[in-house]
Amino acid sequence: MGQQVVIITGAGNGIGRETAKLLATQDKALVLVDFDEKSGQDTLHAVKEHQQQAIFVHADVSKSQDVKKYVEAAKEAFGRIDAFINNAGVLSPPSLLADLEEETFDNVISVNLKGTFLGLKYVLKEMEQQQSGVIVNTSSSAGIQGQPYLGGYAASKHGVIGLTRTAAIEYGPSGIRVNAICPGGVMTNMTKGLTSSPEENGPLRRLADASEIANVIAFLISEEASYVNGAVVPIDGGLTS
Ligand code: NAD
Ligand code: ADP
Repeated sequence: MGQQVVIITGAGNGIGRETAKLLATQDKALVLVDFDEKSGQDTLHAVKEHQQQAIFVHADVSKSQDVKKYVEAAKEAFGRIDAFINNAGVLSPPSLLADLEEETFDNVISVNLKGTFLGLKYVLKEMEQQQSGVIVNTSSSAGIQGQPYLGGYAASKHGVIGLTRTAAIEYGPSGIRVNAICPGGVMTNMTKGLTSSPEENGPLRRLADASEIANVIAFLISEEASYVNGAVVPIDGGLTS
């Protein structure tokens, strides 16, 4: 296989950015997608230290026009899509369900669930034509258990697992693997404002570094993981065990 072409959404910060930096050292061609122009350009600049084959596409994953744009940009720049890291997401402000604003719920579902769906929809179309590809969707520990005060977020991340398992069954016969990762607490902008005791972070008593999530993503898109399909992989220090 030649150089792997990888799309990463939410590449401007946190898990997406760490993954981009890691894959740049593994000679992947990179299509970096983020809705925040500045952070996306920052990541592009960082990966260019190791990898010239990289572009940034400014796109909002919750808008189908933008999703079509990053898929087209990938094809135009590199001719195909070998791996897709469907990762962009937002946290909603904490609230009990009865107090959760309808608009807040709609927004978290629109980015985390619809955004994941739209990425799958347009990338799977390409991968089906190629009869090959691998996808990693970013769910969460809140995708496999309830999360008090984050009901909309938990619903969106449970939904990501439903999409993952369905896609794995539908597209496995076409040579496409689809898996989900479920990080627990990770030190990124997303968790900056949140306070948690060491016990609340699970048996390892600490948050993850984003690189500890990136390592698993890199494994899942590699040939080493050639028989891993439809898996829901916790990366949470034992939090959900
Ligand atoms: P982050 O805020 O550091 O990075 C998220 C990136 O996604 C940002 O660069 C942001 O601009 C981008 N983004 C957000 N909405 C977008 C949109 N509509 N279109 C395009 N880009 C958009 O957060 P992170 O912690 O790296 O989160 C990455 C993924 O990991 C998310 O799906 C998140 O839900 C998931 N996750 C995070 C944690 C955690 O503790 N940090 C735990 C479990 C799962
Ligand atoms: P926090 O400070 O809690 O991490 P932010 O509001 O800074 O939350 O959001 C994190 C990232 O998500 C930022 O890069 C921001 O640009 C992006 N973001 C916030 N709201 C949206 C949205 N509705 N759609 C897309 N991206 C968003």
